[in-house]
Amino acid sequence: MTISEELLVLAHDLGKEERALAILGEGNVSGDLGDGTFLVKASGTSLGTLQESGLSKVSFEKVNAFLAKDGQTEEDVESGLIDSLADPSHKKPSVETFLHALCLQEEGVNFVGHTHTTSVLSILASKEGAKPFAKHLCPDCIVVCGLEVAVIPYVDPGLQLAYAIKNVLADYRAKHGKAPKVILMENHGPVALGKTSKEAFNIMLMLDKWAKLILGAQTMGGLNYMSDEDAQKIDGRLDEAYRRKMLEGK
Ligand SMILES: [Zn+2]
Repeated sequence: MTISEELLVLAHDLGKEERALAILGEGNVSGDLGDGTFLVKASGTSLGTLQESGLSKVSFEKVNAFLAKDGQTEEDVESGLIDSLADPSHKKPSVETFLHALCLQEEGVNFVGHTHTTSVLSILASKEGAKPFAKHLCPDCIVVCGLEVAVIPYVDPGLQLAYAIKNVLADYRAKHGKAPKVILMENHGPVALGKTSKEAFNIMLMLDKWAKLILGAQTMGGLNYMSDEDAQKIDGRLDEAYRRKMLEGK
C-alpha cells in the first residue's frame, strides 16, 4: 500500500461513527512521505469519508521556517498553511498541520492520528484533566500507549498549540530519550504517534479502552492503580517480538 492509501484506511478506521473517536470534521491524520514532505488531512474534510483529494502534501522545511519566524500571529496562520504546501494545487491543509509536522519529525514516528474521542475527552474535559492517565490500570495500556503519556493544558488550536507541542516533545525526549506514543491535549483530545499506520490506530483504540476503564472503575468504588514498580516491570520486560505482536496484530 502507498502512504496515501494507508492514510485513507487509518482515516476511515478512526472516523467510523460507531467508534465515537471522531465525528463530523473532527480529527486528522498524517503520514511521512520520506522525501521532506508529508500528507495531512485537508481543512474542511471528514475522517470517515476522506478521499485522496482530501490529502494535502506539505513541506517540513516550509512549516519549520514558518514556526521559526518571530512575531507570527493567528492571522498569519491562514497564509502560513497555504504557503506550506509542497504541491500548490492541493487544498489548504488542516489547522492542526503544524502539530502533525512536529510529531512526524520525531524519531520513529511515521504516522500520526488525532481524534476528539468521546471517552477520552470526557476525562480531559473534566476537573481532573489528564491526571487519571498519569498512572496505569492494566498492562495492555502500558504495552500499546507507553509507560508515560505527554500532556498539554488547553491552548488555542493553531499557532499556540504548535509551540506547546514543540515544547512538550522536547521535554519528553529529554526525559525519556524518545517520542511519546500519546499526547493528551486537555479540553481537546488525544494524539497518537505511530511507527506504522496500524500502530497509530491501535494506540487510539487502546486509549479509548483506557478512558472507559477509568470511567468504569470510578463507578466501582474508585481507581485501583498498578504500582509504579509493577508498571515499570511490564514496560521493561517486553521483548520486541511481543510488542510487535500486540501492535501490528501479527
Ligand atoms: Zn483537534
